[in-house]
Amino acid sequence: MSTGNKPPSQADGPIAAEERGAEKAAERPAAPKYPVYERFYTWQGEGVHLGQAAYFIRLYGCPQACPWCDSAGTWHPDYRPASVALLSAEALAEAVAAESSDGAVVVVTGGEPILFDLGPLTGALHALGRRVHLETSGIAPLRGRLDWVTLSPKPTQRWPLPEVVARADEVKIIVHQPGDIAAGLATLDGLRPDAVIWLHPEWSRARERDMRVLNAITEAVKANPRLRAGYQMHKLYRADDLDAHSDKRLIPLGGHPELGY
Ligand code: SF4
Repeated sequence: MSTGNKPPSQADGPIAAEERGAEKAAERPAAPKYPVYERFYTWQGEGVHLGQAAYFIRLYGCPQACPWCDSAGTWHPDYRPASVALLSAEALAEAVAAESSDGAVVVVTGGEPILFDLGPLTGALHALGRRVHLETSGIAPLRGRLDWVTLSPKPTQRWPLPEVVARADEVKIIVHQPGDIAAGLATLDGLRPDAVIWLHPEWSRARERDMRVLNAITEAVKANPRLRAGYQMHKLYRADDLDAHSDKRLIPLGGHPELGY
């Protein structure tokens, strides 16, 4: 039986092997570089992993254009940064290793990180022994091995793909007005029964203590115990600001014009 290993021949001399290597390299897609809007070490301020040490990688670019976005620097033409670093998976893994403690999870967020092939990045981070979490609105196929997927559907913009809904470990519905609860739930056909569903007051509503929104969340949770009332705790602590790498520019929309988010 053939082993499949061809014996060396004239054609397999160093030049031929070199040429074949060059051809293979030309066929291989170049390793992606990721546009990094900001990266910082802090703790997870919301969801099931609330309070855990976490290194955030926020990628640039998002087509959703939510009118209350609190990360508008990643897409809004008026708040475009002067430059965005393009970093390889290896460079990002090196930064994670140098700038955070062993055992801290890595949260890949945006912007809309699902637009990118996250395979090389998740591979490099797993090689460090880190768990990798993703925050996404689910509008494209997932690429990469994720340990946790947080889906934040944007029903007034583009709906999540069914395959991302099926993969989600938790869901975060942003409630800017009471009707957003039903609209968000309507996008979740195929969600696993054990996936957690959070209702988060959109931050400008929470900041203003908009009781219409807060009470709507309370009533929804009381009516459907599968739902949980959420809050963005890091904004109270302003924990992200403590890291020198985090973006502290004043970006309005749903952010806080004075506090920088
Ligand atoms: S999906 Fe997220 S990053 Fe994109 S516009 Fe909406 S809130 Fe902003």
